[in-house]
Amino acid sequence: MEKKPFITLEQVKEMAASYPTPFHLYDEKGIRENARKLKAAFAWNPNFHEYFAVKATPNPYIMDILKSEGIGADCSSYTELLMSDAVGLKGHDIMFSSNVTPAEDFKKAAELGAIINFDDVSLIDFYEEIGAPFLETMCCRYNPGGNFTLHNEIMDTPKDAKYGMTKEQMKEAFTKLKAHGVKHFGIHAFLASNTVALGYYPKLARILFELAVELSKEVGVHIAFVNLSGGVGIAYRPDQEPNDIMAIGAAVKEAYDDVLVPAGMDDVAIFTELGRFMLAPYGCLVAKVLHEKHIWKDYVGLDACAANLMRPAMYGAYHHITVLGKENEPCDHMYDVTGGLCENNDKFAIDRMLPKIDIGDYVVIHDTGAHGFSMGYNYNGKLRSAELLLKEDGTVKQIRRAETPQDYFATLDYPGLKDEK
Ligand SMILES: *Cc1c(COP(=O)(O)O)cnc(C)c1O
Repeated sequence: MEKKPFITLEQVKEMAASYPTPFHLYDEKGIRENARKLKAAFAWNPNFHEYFAVKATPNPYIMDILKSEGIGADCSSYTELLMSDAVGLKGHDIMFSSNVTPAEDFKKAAELGAIINFDDVSLIDFYEEIGAPFLETMCCRYNPGGNFTLHNEIMDTPKDAKYGMTKEQMKEAFTKLKAHGVKHFGIHAFLASNTVALGYYPKLARILFELAVELSKEVGVHIAFVNLSGGVGIAYRPDQEPNDIMAIGAAVKEAYDDVLVPAGMDDVAIFTELGRFMLAPYGCLVAKVLHEKHIWKDYVGLDACAANLMRPAMYGAYHHITVLGKENEPCDHMYDVTGGLCENNDKFAIDRMLPKIDIGDYVVIHDTGAHGFSMGYNYNGKLRSAELLLKEDGTVKQIRRAETPQDYFATLDYPGLKDEK
């Protein structure tokens, strides 16, 4: 599928007059339409609930948009809990799916009445020792081990993943929680990341539904929900077919009707904790070409770097690039598109065919709406960019300002260290 930016060169020029590049830009219209599609796909399940994985795009303005679409928050840290609280998400609007959890985080989650998802059976004793209160509804995370395969293809390797518990530990955990007075139970698992295959959620659902039936019978507990977590991916590459969420929802229903309904468990709610699927395509990184150089290869250097978008450097991830205003020109030049970090992996693209690029061109790096800004860092003293929101009415709102040197120095108390600007 052809990948088109959701903004034009004219719009970017106008934005850049007030907000210098680089910046991350989010598309409210796209976010809302996609959120509604997800809800439609699971409308067959009356208590379906999506908990947006806050780590993907931890900005309260974005969480606010999602909240107004009836979407909650999936948190994994203290600060993410604080943000959820600030946007008015409380109680069962928050899932707390963390691992290696500090005591304060558990206490905060319990204080907000969040649904706490235990990553390990040992954490239940820890939770008791720190004096955190057991709540009516709690959840445990499952790790089935082995390889997770779809159509004989290995999608991921749960046996090597640090998350979740074995089936025997799930039983032990549910038994312990039951003894602590927990009444309603959830089962959670995250077995493969960024899947662009119709089969992921349905296969995961079947595994968790079967486990739900087994646990409900053997431990004698009420399973209130199954949390399919994240992992539904997006088409980062133009030759990939995007996920059809309606078809995914229908296939999960098939598994539900096959496994849960005959077991008399037709009140089980489906929860999801999607991050990437909810936001990635509706955000982009806008940058300007600062320099070009021609040595053994041809390079164009941007005013953005891996500190603004780490995925290519960290995972070799593909992010599509559009040179604004040159959308219809032939891609007949091969470039490495780089940032300015003193690291040779600071490349947004390697050997990418693009139109002829000139200094001053604006480029859009696609699909940075999730795990983009949030994975940013300050290496080389680079500062975090602004985040802008393209609202439904076409206006632009700055939802996070760019960092200044003062922000970078804020945690240092050193004489004379201040920005003179
Ligand atoms: C990261 C994460 C998610 C979201 O994953 P995506 O791939 O962005 O959908 C959901 N749940 C948990 C527990 C996570 O760690």
